[in-house]
Amino acid sequence: MLEVINLDKCFSSGGMMKKKYIKVVDRISFQIGRGETFGLVGESGCGKTTAGKSTLRLIEPTSGKIVFDGIDVTKLKTKEMRKLRPRMQMIFQDPDASLDPRMKTERSIAEPLRLRGGLSKREIEERVMELIETVGLNPEHAHRYPYQMSGGQNQRVVLARALASNPDFIVADEPTSGLDVSVQAQILKLMNELKRDLNLTTMFITHDLEVVKHMSDRMAVMYRGKILEMGETENIFNCARHPYAQLLIEPQPSEDLGVQDAESENRNGDRPGCVFYPRCPFAEKNCMEKEPEMIKMNRDHQVLCHLV
Ligand code: SF4
Repeated sequence: MLEVINLDKCFSSGGMMKKKYIKVVDRISFQIGRGETFGLVGESGCGKTTAGKSTLRLIEPTSGKIVFDGIDVTKLKTKEMRKLRPRMQMIFQDPDASLDPRMKTERSIAEPLRLRGGLSKREIEERVMELIETVGLNPEHAHRYPYQMSGGQNQRVVLARALASNPDFIVADEPTSGLDVSVQAQILKLMNELKRDLNLTTMFITHDLEVVKHMSDRMAVMYRGKILEMGETENIFNCARHPYAQLLIEPQPSEDLGVQDAESENRNGDRPGCVFYPRCPFAEKNCMEKEPEMIKMNRDHQVLCHLV
């Protein structure tokens, strides 16, 4: 369904004289099969949200190729991209920020249907009520504003809105991170049901390993803009091979895996070697000098490390 090849995203900072480029996504490649959930996991600031937005061209990638259902998305002009947009949707972290506070639920969900055109007023109303039921809300929620709903209910509205255009592919960026644990579980259950019933292909972005373990068929571990390990979720949880993935899955008491400052660290910018070199307990001289290449452990397990 989706193939991303050598995707790069750089941002510039500073004025004309002191322009500095920060590579936030660094030549990542991955594939997602139809109906599959692909987890993208990593610490805050590792570039996973930028990777998701670039994949949908919500922000323009600096370079690389994105092929969606046989279409080279990177070559599409704005008008062609607009036509494709209903098939590729994104769900953001904060439902309150995604919904217009002045719109009742029914209007929020109906908006993408109206914009797409081709449906009568009555058909739109019927579809809205169908979507409200699909995401587990009650008909009376249709007449409520976001402030009259809980966080979990609003996230269901966001889901219904994303589903309104019958998408094939959804990028879900930390869709449960602002919710209570019990509500999180309900939303994750709902997303799993939608995947099963609608055969949705999903890219699930999260920093929460339990969530990625529960939700994804395959996963990739990101660190400072790079994918360091990728494969079937079960394989990675049972037998992570990259030192960083191992630390992430089974953190050592001495290892600080706290939030990285993405802005202050120019990722691998000026340094030729492995991006994980400064923190790697197994680093050798070679690691500082030469950037590792992806090594295929088997058909669907790849690791970016010299020592594997
Ligand atoms: Fe560690 Fe070297 Fe592997 Fe990088 S390439 S993860 S520094 S062992």
